[in-house]
Amino acid sequence: MSNTIWIFAQQKNNTVAPAAFELLSVGKSLAEQLGGTVEAVTFGKDIQAIAAALFDHGAQQVHAVQHDSLGHFSDDLYAGLLAELIKQHQPAIVLGIASTYGRALFPRTAALLEAPIAGDVRSVKIDNGAVICEKPVYGGNATAVISFAGHRPAMITVRPKTNPEAGSTGGTGQARLIELPAGLVARNVVSESVAAEGGEVSLAEADIIVSGGRGIKAAENYKLIENLAGVLGAARGASRAIVDAGWVPYSRQVGQTGKTVNPKLYIACGISGAIQHLVGMQSSRVIVAINKDAEAPIFSVASYGIVGDLFAYVPAITKYFAEKLG
Ligand SMILES: Cc1cc2nc3c(=O)[nH]c(=O)nc-3n(C[C@H](O)[C@H](O)[C@H](O)COP(=O)(O)OP(=O)(O)OC[C@H]3O[C@@H](n4cnc5c(N)ncnc54)[C@H](O)[C@@H]3O)c2cc1C
Repeated sequence: MSNTIWIFAQQKNNTVAPAAFELLSVGKSLAEQLGGTVEAVTFGKDIQAIAAALFDHGAQQVHAVQHDSLGHFSDDLYAGLLAELIKQHQPAIVLGIASTYGRALFPRTAALLEAPIAGDVRSVKIDNGAVICEKPVYGGNATAVISFAGHRPAMITVRPKTNPEAGSTGGTGQARLIELPAGLVARNVVSESVAAEGGEVSLAEADIIVSGGRGIKAAENYKLIENLAGVLGAARGASRAIVDAGWVPYSRQVGQTGKTVNPKLYIACGISGAIQHLVGMQSSRVIVAINKDAEAPIFSVASYGIVGDLFAYVPAITKYFAEKLG
């Protein structure tokens, strides 16, 4: 078994997902601990720019499969192809992003290989030769430690924004181009992928998120959240209460049955902080809560709290930052 670490570099519209650079920093550290190399695997319709970005961020080799049918993510085709490459090259560890795609791809691939998998982990290290992962469980109230012991390959998805991005190294290289095996075909074909709303910052990748809850009182008041998010270049989030009310789409929901986010700054406006919301955002680096109820549970996880009326504070903060940031 090799000491090679693979990262699966997810792409969208021929651009590498930024979280893939976080995987490269995790992979580099593991490769150093194992005395191996960190290599990237990528599938797409046009992978030249993707491969160049991966080499530039520290990949020592890039295995690339370029084919028209790989432009959009396809569960069965991607999983069949990744399993095939893993069988051929036998990497010790395969890292993926715990995104919607990664959560579909990795368990499927692991099942094809009958390989062990740990999903949605926060950290990965080598201890006495064993691969050890840590992941938050029970709503972040406990940490599960998962050991792969001697099983290989260890398939792992890593939660975005929990590890630093590998920086640009100036590295270059020639990707190893692999033909799509003739027998592999997609049973379902994605012909087009349409963003939910044009130009919106994605919740999973955002450094800053401004979220609104039932405290905003009415759908039209969500524009307060949008205005502040716009000024800060932030993604817009929501509690389930206002998603269920039909005020904003489900794609914005943060929490147990929505998205798990890890931004540098999370601003919760008129959100009480029910446990189901907290599990999706409490690992944010800095949390600011605006709530008129000083006893609201959101303040138990907040780094900074404003006890007050969001209808006064949110526009005032928006105005302040609009002036400061130009
Ligand atoms: C199985 C299950 C899964 C769930 N999954 C999720 C999930 O993924 N995400 C999620 O968010 N919830 C989820 N929930 C729902 C969760 O339990 C809460 O009901 C929900 O988070 C409450 O949303 P909220 O904080 O916006 O509303 P509320 O709890 O009604 O809180 C509104 C807050 O606004 C404050 N407020 C009111 N007016 C103002 C004002 N003018 N200025 C400032 N503050 C004001 C109030 O003091 C209050 O704290 C789930 C529930 C279940 C049972």
